[in-house]
Amino acid sequence: MANPKTMELPVLPLRGMLVFPGTVLHFDIARPRSIAALEQCMTGKQKLLLLTQKREEDEEPKPEDLYMVGTVVNVRQVMNLPGENIRVLVEGEVRALVQNFQEKENYLQATVQISKDRIVRSNEGKAMVRTAQDLFEEYAKSSQRISQDMVEGLRTLEKPGEIADLLAAHILQKWQEKQEMLSELDPLKRLEKVCGVLVRETDLADTEKEIQSRIRKSVERNQKDYYLREQLRAIQNELGEEEEGDEHGYRKRMEETPLNEEARAKCEKEIDRMSRIAPGSPEYIVSETYIDWILDMPWGKETEDNLDLARAREILDREHYGLDKVKERIIEYLAVLRMKKNMKGPILCFVGPPGVGKTSIVKAIAEAVDRKFVRMSLGGVRDEAEIRGHRKTYIGSMPGRIITGMKQAGSMNPVFLFDEIDKMASDFRGDPASAMLEVLDAEQNNAFRDHYMEIPFDLSKVMFITTANSRETIPEPLLDRMEIIEVPSYTEEEKLQILKRHLMPKQLAEHGMAPGTVTMDEEIMRSMIEGYTREAGVRTLERTAAKICRKAAVYLLENEAESVHVDAERLHAFLGAVRYTREPLEQEARVGIVNGLAWTSVGGETLEVECIPMPGKGNLKLTGQLGDVMKESAEAAFSWVRAHSGELGLEEDFYTKTDIHVHLPEGAVPKDGPSAGITMTTAFVSALTGKKVRQDVAMTGEMTLRGRVLPIGGLKEKTLAAYRAGIRILIIPKENHKDLEEIPSYVLEHFEIIEVEEIQQVLDTALVQA
Ligand code: ADP
Repeated sequence: MANPKTMELPVLPLRGMLVFPGTVLHFDIARPRSIAALEQCMTGKQKLLLLTQKREEDEEPKPEDLYMVGTVVNVRQVMNLPGENIRVLVEGEVRALVQNFQEKENYLQATVQISKDRIVRSNEGKAMVRTAQDLFEEYAKSSQRISQDMVEGLRTLEKPGEIADLLAAHILQKWQEKQEMLSELDPLKRLEKVCGVLVRETDLADTEKEIQSRIRKSVERNQKDYYLREQLRAIQNELGEEEEGDEHGYRKRMEETPLNEEARAKCEKEIDRMSRIAPGSPEYIVSETYIDWILDMPWGKETEDNLDLARAREILDREHYGLDKVKERIIEYLAVLRMKKNMKGPILCFVGPPGVGKTSIVKAIAEAVDRKFVRMSLGGVRDEAEIRGHRKTYIGSMPGRIITGMKQAGSMNPVFLFDEIDKMASDFRGDPASAMLEVLDAEQNNAFRDHYMEIPFDLSKVMFITTANSRETIPEPLLDRMEIIEVPSYTEEEKLQILKRHLMPKQLAEHGMAPGTVTMDEEIMRSMIEGYTREAGVRTLERTAAKICRKAAVYLLENEAESVHVDAERLHAFLGAVRYTREPLEQEARVGIVNGLAWTSVGGETLEVECIPMPGKGNLKLTGQLGDVMKESAEAAFSWVRAHSGELGLEEDFYTKTDIHVHLPEGAVPKDGPSAGITMTTAFVSALTGKKVRQDVAMTGEMTLRGRVLPIGGLKEKTLAAYRAGIRILIIPKENHKDLEEIPSYVLEHFEIIEVEEIQQVLDTALVQA
């Protein structure tokens, strides 16, 4: 009104709370100054001024620590509590603004100006009131904290300020926000602010409700699933179908399987996990697959070894012709096994060209000792995970091939063959060779860990055997653990025997024909070997034999015959035109052309080195199939020739005017580059001096810069190639003399063999002396 009222009142400071006009509240007081203020008020009009502290923690707030807007309250009730505490019940009467404070003896007093709300009559005010009532009703629906009575009570109020205060008291959570509302003296503005809060709180309450209902649903669903499963279990139990919690019979199987401790624990855990997830869900299937893997492994299953050596020898002989050294070594190995009764020995590694029977002899070993046989090809394996598996956390992950192989074997002690161990590669996906190292290491492999299985698996009883095409390409650390057994390529004579005794009978049987249905003379077999195959082993020969059987079968049906004899004409009819013809040996000695011998991964070959000089500046031009090593030996050869130009009868500065072009014909890439050293030197000397080279001579040997001849590898293969080419004189390094033992005498008889130590001896033999 016109003269706002002022009053003097004792002050009660409040911490973290306040009282709105029109609301009733009780609180406890204990501070002496508060109690003194209360006592003072009780002696007068029983009115107090409540002022909230700006900071809750102030123990003795000064006037400047209090808000300047507070509430005048009537004290309705005072109650002494045990101790010093006093509980006061107050009713908020009206807002008041502090004008000044007076410090009394033991309490604070303030002179205040009473602030009654102005009367609002505008339409805006009414609309605001209605809005607030509607919003509150909505809020009450969303929030479970408000009773219907209160909503209805609010509907009976009309004054915006009163409504605002009531709402602020009920919906605001923080005292700071409440103080803000108390400090707002304009009733309409106050109500507008409260409406804003209502909208915000309703939104929040809605979201809260949504979240709660979501949580409730998922909990309910889990519970429902759980109950259903429990019921199912109970029904199954009632029917006596399965053990409790053992829908798949896993627990029963687990009992029957001699798992190791870790495997048992893992399995147990996984079965428990499974019982808690919904059947058919992806996770469930992952668990199921995993348990199946564990239980399907051949835990504790072993076959009994048969170490009867006579029987083993018989089986090896029955399956393979020749290979005497190899068979002997196998028998020794089995003998040691019989004495020691454990597998801790070197791992056998059969090294040799393709098709010489490495794989099939290992199969025969398995049969000889009565063990299961599994084979894994390492050719092209570059990912460690192929050997050791992928972690279970990846979708669709599986154990590696070792574990897969063991499961397939179905016993803990199979013969496990790693084919092509020299063909592993390593790249960013890890080094498979190091995983193999662990597998093959007798000290470690009793607890092999696959990434997928995550449990140790005992590989110590497995008989590991490996094969490789060449010893050079086997990773060094693996090589250390293995005993190399060379399986050499076959001579034509051996191939003939293998064809006659093994391949033909085998193919006949495979094509359902009785022995003797297809016959041929040895001479025809020879033309079959020479004209249709060119290989170190007998793979193509076996395929060719199969082709003959197919053609023969058609012939027999068409002609209603019982048997067929294959002669030269029929061989041609069955197999088509001859594939390989032997070029007749050049009889004439020639300049600049020398027969070298190469050892390739498929056996031996003759290698014609050709060389011509031309005007130039001493450059060496190389074309054809040459690796780096080959280029180096060409350069060494050229240097030797330059250094010896005088003795060779060349002009001392010949190389300032002459270029040399060396060409090696296309063909398989030689395994050992340097062995063409003496061949190239001979070609250079011949080309530069014009002296002719004998064409019935072939040679192999590495050469040092000073002209010393060093030993080479693959002598047997090279000699066989020379034999096939019709060579008469064979030049070999003296240090290779011991290797001649391995070559059949009928082959050696064919040659004049010259063993050399110096390049001059080579030149003396190969060059036609003018
Ligand atoms: P590799 O593993 O060395 O490549 P395989 O073991 O696959 O060779 O042999 C190819 C085929 O040749 C097989 O059918 C095998 O039985 C046959 N074979 C190889 N050597 C002989 C042999 N000495 N006696 C009988 N058959 C052989």
